Amino acid sequence: MTATVAATKALVVCDGAGRTFGSGPTAIVAIHGVTCRIEPGQRVALTGPSGSGKSTLLHLMAGLDHPTVGSITWPAIGSRMQLRPGPVAVIFQGPSLLPALDVVENVALPLVLAGADDDDARRRAHIALERLDLDSLGSSLPDELSGGQAQRVAVARALAGSPRLILADEPTGQLDRATGRQVIDTMLDASTHSGAALLVTTHDDTVAENLDERWRMVDGCIVPDMTAVPGGEATCSA
Ligand code: ADP
Ligand code: MG
Repeated sequence: MTATVAATKALVVCDGAGRTFGSGPTAIVAIHGVTCRIEPGQRVALTGPSGSGKSTLLHLMAGLDHPTVGSITWPAIGSRMQLRPGPVAVIFQGPSLLPALDVVENVALPLVLAGADDDDARRRAHIALERLDLDSLGSSLPDELSGGQAQRVAVARALAGSPRLILADEPTGQLDRATGRQVIDTMLDASTHSGAALLVTTHDDTVAENLDERWRMVDGCIVPDMTAVPGGEATCSA
């Protein structure tokens, strides 16, 4: 364990990062000063009970939210503005596909937003879908998909931009165990294939067991976990 970390070529570095919602007597400290880093290719399960701060920390790492104390940096990527679309992909727990677009259009959309022309975006969307054996669903609308299929399409959408870091917030939370297993396998295969680092929040131990290491959150801190791989550097300084 180390109390501070040097900003080398990690994908994301949290240095005493905390997040408090509100102020005064009703303030909620969701995250205390967390110090951790994710290196290229690292695959981490972030576990802990509901309300322990997993989503808040993931949102901070994704640059979707700002810490109220401490700092978050992305040394291997650049500034917050450079995170998306591209280097950092986020997968959410619930439905996230746009209902009016078919599967190919949903997967292609972030690429178009990143400046790709339509043909190139569609071509790359097809490649991502093929890699996950989802190409037969290309012209389906989200309403026509099962929960597991929709979540795997969301994984394909995340991969289409060739991310270096995939942040998945309870990606299996609304799926039955077998379907959840398929989604986790898909993410692990994708990370093995592309070398992308992976942080998956979950309160399901059977999901966490599939990742290389485990960080455990309790009351807004990352605490030592006896099952974690030795050498993990996540700490909480508050
Ligand atoms: P987890 O993902 O582990 O269930 P969260 O990060 O969602 O935990 O929440 C951590 C704490 O922060 C909880 O007490 C939650 O109620 C609170 N919280 C999260 N988001 C907000 C918000 N936007 N406004 C106020 N409180 C919030
Ligand atoms: Mg959550």
